[in-house]
Amino acid sequence: MNTQDIRLAKPAAKIRLGIGKYNRVKRAQDVVEMVGFATVIFVIASFLIDGGLANITDIPSALGAFSRLTALVATDLLLIQMILVARVPWLDRLYGHDRTTIAHKKLGKPVLYIIIAHFLASLIQYAMQDGKNIFAEIFVMANLTTDLLLSFVALAAMIIVVITSIKIARAKLSYEAWYLVHLLSYVAVLAAVPHEFSVGQDVAGKPLQSAFWIALYVFVGGNLVWFRFLQPIVKMLQHRFTVTKIHASSSDTASIYIGGKNMHDLTAKAGQFYLLRIMTAKQWWRPHPFSLSAAPNEDYVRFTVGDRGDDTALMQNLKVGTKVMLEGPYGVFTEDRRTKEKVTLICAGIGVPPIRALAESMVAKPGDITIIYRTRDNDDAALLHELDAISRVRGHELRVLEGPRANPKSWLPSGHGNIPDFQRLRLIAPNVTESDVFICGPVAWTRTVEKSLHQLGMSPKQIHAEEFAW
Ligand SMILES: Cc1cc2nc3c(=O)[nH]c(=O)nc-3n(C[C@H](O)[C@H](O)[C@H](O)COP(=O)(O)OP(=O)(O)OC[C@H]3O[C@@H](n4cnc5c(N)ncnc54)[C@H](O)[C@@H]3O)c2cc1C
Repeated sequence: MNTQDIRLAKPAAKIRLGIGKYNRVKRAQDVVEMVGFATVIFVIASFLIDGGLANITDIPSALGAFSRLTALVATDLLLIQMILVARVPWLDRLYGHDRTTIAHKKLGKPVLYIIIAHFLASLIQYAMQDGKNIFAEIFVMANLTTDLLLSFVALAAMIIVVITSIKIARAKLSYEAWYLVHLLSYVAVLAAVPHEFSVGQDVAGKPLQSAFWIALYVFVGGNLVWFRFLQPIVKMLQHRFTVTKIHASSSDTASIYIGGKNMHDLTAKAGQFYLLRIMTAKQWWRPHPFSLSAAPNEDYVRFTVGDRGDDTALMQNLKVGTKVMLEGPYGVFTEDRRTKEKVTLICAGIGVPPIRALAESMVAKPGDITIIYRTRDNDDAALLHELDAISRVRGHELRVLEGPRANPKSWLPSGHGNIPDFQRLRLIAPNVTESDVFICGPVAWTRTVEKSLHQLGMSPKQIHAEEFAW
């Protein structure tokens, strides 16, 4: 591809550098986390102030108190967990989609354990009070009210969601199966609500607590419904996104251009990603995340998709005119996180799209940016020609490292004896320690690159990597 074939975005005139903006993000994160903790403290404090412990006289009443407390804490954490995956822009801007997803996953098991503790405590308490064994008591409770029966459904749904999320189970499930099972978590939350308000002693008939819980449900539900479901539909109708062009970028990679009305209104930045939903009968219900592979402009956004599975295989042959839905943009893998004049961009495999977009749009003097592209085969490396052309126009240093790994622990190709990766990195990119480093590639590979950067004594503030987490 010739330089003139590539339409390049004009970088901004200047960029604010320094760690001031890093500190501002950290302070905002502290505020958000404090509010999260405050909600947990509120529910515990309201339980204690309400005499939660004062009524304990025997084992059943102790179990009752324990059941109430665990119910309050679990519900609060469950709502926090839901908002972490609601893909709300205000959280995404602070943490990035990968970190909110990881926090969501980490909360999964503790929340389930607390809910099971609540269920068992209630069951044993009622069984002792009714003088029945716990199996007989399950039927008594299920027949007592529809709300309690629904809460059993909620518990079963939660257990299924958590089991299918653990590593071994997840490795065996396709993304689609996992996605469908995960929709059960909404069933779980909705099915649990009625018994909290009708049977829950800490909410029913208590104005302050009721107001707190209603506000929390409305806040989380509102964010979820708007940002995850309604806003993408509204944007699709407003912009009427369609595939306007598609071409092969390597033997198993296609670049897909999406155009529509008022594309200049989109707020996406190079380095961010969208969830792309191909609106065909077969694929509309399966959105997949893809990074922008070119800086967005007033005519199109572009993705470069590697054939890695069922849907990405279908996407290689998309027809021009196919309707699509874009959810996003998401992610903090952008120049906004840059703190230094010099930048090193490192990518491998299908991690190249966001690096290509950043290389195009970053503010830089010739020589400020070094790009390291790890390829298996230069003749079939996606977007390599474009990176080459951009580097010539912008004066970036492009280092293409071809071939198999030097050894299983290395992220570099063989060819330099036994020099450790971190020392080789300094030879490849002499400015690396004075730069911000943006890394994109497979998770395990990214970890080894990060290790080299830590071995060079670099600060975490200089290292930016967005994990392809789901
Ligand atoms: C933030 C982010 C940005 C990405 N950017 C790009 C990009 O620019 N270009 C590109 O080609 N790929 C990108 N990916 C990976 C891409 O989303 C997956 O390859 C794609 O979703 C696979 O769909 P499939 O139906 O073809 O694969 P499947 O047949 O379902 O699975 C094939 C493989 O892809 C993985 N995968 C499946 N669905 C997802 C998902 N929703 N998120 C992450 N991994 C998944 C599976 O673990 C499996 O290993 C990105 C992923 C993330 C999370």
